[in-house]
Amino acid sequence: MAKLLESKPIAEKIKEEIKKQIQALKTTPVLVSVSAGENAGAASYVKSQFKAAESLGIIYRLEKLSQDISEAALIDFIGKLNADKSVNGIIVQMPLPAQIDYRKISRFIDPQKDAEGMHPANLGKLVFGKQAILPCTAAAVMELLNSTGIDLYGKEVVIVGHSEIVGKPLALLLLEKFATVTVCHIGTSKAGKLEEHVGRAEVLIVAVGKAGLIKGEWIKEDAVVIDVGINRVGDKIVGDVEFEAAQARASYITPVPGGVGPLTATMLMRNLVEAAKLQQ
Ligand code: NDP
Repeated sequence: MAKLLESKPIAEKIKEEIKKQIQALKTTPVLVSVSAGENAGAASYVKSQFKAAESLGIIYRLEKLSQDISEAALIDFIGKLNADKSVNGIIVQMPLPAQIDYRKISRFIDPQKDAEGMHPANLGKLVFGKQAILPCTAAAVMELLNSTGIDLYGKEVVIVGHSEIVGKPLALLLLEKFATVTVCHIGTSKAGKLEEHVGRAEVLIVAVGKAGLIKGEWIKEDAVVIDVGINRVGDKIVGDVEFEAAQARASYITPVPGGVGPLTATMLMRNLVEAAKLQQ
């Protein structure tokens, strides 16, 4: 029976570190959240970010823009935040309205204020390692793995999902640790090879957004399973992995909710403090 890999104790430890760094900064960092229109999913992320900021004494400012805002106006707004010396970090909440190309927007955030670590310059630094600002969810997964004490050197690590925010940056972070990384995606599933890859994973990370995609019986005995997925099924929130069946085989498994999610907001705050240090 797998041990539960919960993020709360890990987040508390990291927060103590962040508090020390904030004291050393001698100023209260300011994070600005920018959203356009209303979205229930984004609202719950904003709430958890606000709570994480509040617990660290970080100022979290909400800027709610209109659903109809044009791409040019949003870029202009971000430009003003870039120029504002009182702002240390910027996060643009997803989803953005259809008229805005979200991929384009991250390019307009000053890389030194990029609290999410999604500016191409920060993503590019991942290739070389040793970067200060990391994509939050990928960083949260690395902290969870670190907490198990597992030595990733030479381990078979399988990531399911190749998004820019999770799968791709995670693959680079794991390569830094000399893990043997396989990244699966829709093509893997369509080729009927997902079960085969999942079955040899000593560490399995799933970030797809499809409840029950990964069958518990596929999991290798004693694997470490990190489920990033968040899916609403009826009135419940579940991950992408069949939890009970996977727990019976794995050595560690993250619950959903309570696994990766709460740590992601802590990583955002860590990035903010790193950003503030870079600005000083
Ligand atoms: P995306 O939709 O951007 O990416 C999903 C990935 O899964 C894509 O690479 C997609 O491939 C792949 N995929 C889709 N269907 C299959 C399939 N049947 N088999 C294998 N791969 C498949 O999602 P995100 O990365 O943004 O998020 C993934 C999940 O993680 C979501 O549930 C999201 O809510 C959650 N999440 C949780 C966070 C947290 O803090 N806990 C933070 C961020 C996300 P392709 O693109 O080729 O179709």
